[in-house]
Amino acid sequence: MTAHDGQHSAAAAGAVEEGAPGRLEIVRRFVNTQDVEDGIEELDTPQAMRAWLREHDLPDVPGAGFENLTRLVALRESLRKLMLANNRGQEDERALDHLCDEAARVPLRVRFGGGGRSELVPGCTGVDAVVGELVSIVHEAMAEGTWPRLKACRSDTCEWAFYDRSRNRSGTWCSMAVCGNRAKARSFRDRHVAKRNADT
Ligand SMILES: [Zn+2]
Repeated sequence: MTAHDGQHSAAAAGAVEEGAPGRLEIVRRFVNTQDVEDGIEELDTPQAMRAWLREHDLPDVPGAGFENLTRLVALRESLRKLMLANNRGQEDERALDHLCDEAARVPLRVRFGGGGRSELVPGCTGVDAVVGELVSIVHEAMAEGTWPRLKACRSDTCEWAFYDRSRNRSGTWCSMAVCGNRAKARSFRDRHVAKRNADT
């Protein structure tokens, strides 16, 4: 078991509050279908993709092929880049363009419900409907102001998506215990080397 696995099971046990509110959690889990650090790809076949969509109450893609899979994985990677941009407090124009292109490909309708709520729903089926659901969740999070808290870990060997619940939205690492400490050790080492070099 790696340190990261340990962290994931700690999160499952509620020890780490990394889950996003409401349906935004689906988008966070979607990005984490690839565990960069452990090299685990959950969406490796169209069948695995359909199983994952079913588990997360997303529309089915009957007869899904690798073309559908490639499209969803590309969207996932742009979402990860946008979450990294949230972490760094910068824009990622390429990832944003990709999200805009995907949103433009799918028809979305406004559905008014009880309790003064409304939502965007895809007026299509198959992989378009999956994309529609995902972009509507992101839109809702942006409108509600929760989106900037959804971040990808700053460590480039990790990039795990987490929801930053810190008061001043300053969270940088998926977990202080794993990536935060690693970064601290690295900067300590770097400072040491710099000092040694300066001394000689
Ligand atoms: Zn991390």
